[in-house]
Amino acid sequence: MSIEVYRFKVGTFKCMAVSDGALTYGPPIFPPPAVFLFSNAPEGPLEQALKEHKLVPGQWMEWTSPYICLAVDTGEHLVLVDTGAGSLGPNTGKLVQNLRVAGIAPEGIDTVVLTHGHPDHIGGNTDDRGEPAFPNARFVMWKGEWDFWMSGEAELRLDEHVREVLLKFARRNLPPIQGKLDLVDHETEIVPGIRAVAAPGHTPGHMALAVSSGGEQLLHICDAVLHPIHLEQPQWCAAVDLDPEQAVASRRRLLNRAAAEKALVFAFHFPFPGLGHVVQKGEGWRWQPA
Ligand SMILES: [Zn+2]
Repeated sequence: MSIEVYRFKVGTFKCMAVSDGALTYGPPIFPPPAVFLFSNAPEGPLEQALKEHKLVPGQWMEWTSPYICLAVDTGEHLVLVDTGAGSLGPNTGKLVQNLRVAGIAPEGIDTVVLTHGHPDHIGGNTDDRGEPAFPNARFVMWKGEWDFWMSGEAELRLDEHVREVLLKFARRNLPPIQGKLDLVDHETEIVPGIRAVAAPGHTPGHMALAVSSGGEQLLHICDAVLHPIHLEQPQWCAAVDLDPEQAVASRRRLLNRAAAEKALVFAFHFPFPGLGHVVQKGEGWRWQPA
């Protein structure tokens, strides 16, 4: 099996981590990774944490983040979580090709859950011609998230450095799904066995998911964490966390739950296939890759 697709099971659900590619963050377009990912970290503890992850403080200039979508075949529904980044980077937009390799045609997907409206999660909603890439799917998004991007609020609240590219993707990739969209505003079951979990902060309606079958659970925590150091230092925010305080509260709630319930965890930006467990460590947690 290629390393772009990783199959696993949650109870009777057949799951698949599917790579959409990766993007390298760093100057001159982005700040150095330590500033981008841990914008409020005090210098001393930051240097210590980086060293523990074999990163050289002051010399860490590139962070290559995987983009990993999740496909779940519940037996009743074929669900895709996030559509990847489309044309965002030179090495992104591989989702559909990888799904096909795994035997999944885009037409077969009946439900697409969008965890939030950032380019790397909605960039594959449409194909090169602007046509819906998953023509038979209903889309599900948190209501506050949709409203944020479709009203003037995003324009007012986004940081000027990222505003242009974020708005460009939202304006191009959200309107085409409007006619097939279900908005949720509370923690409800999206399809049997897959529940929406509120996780605001990274964006106003950022959504996590709990996938349960046969007594097993997968917690998809999406962008509540971007790097494993966020588990160890949950109070450190990324420059792209719109509401840092809320983001930290959501992160703590999800990590607490993951550790307490010993759930398998899926994180969109973690090293492929993005799967692991969350283990309590001191005041924080530690990432244990599966
Ligand atoms: Zn993301």
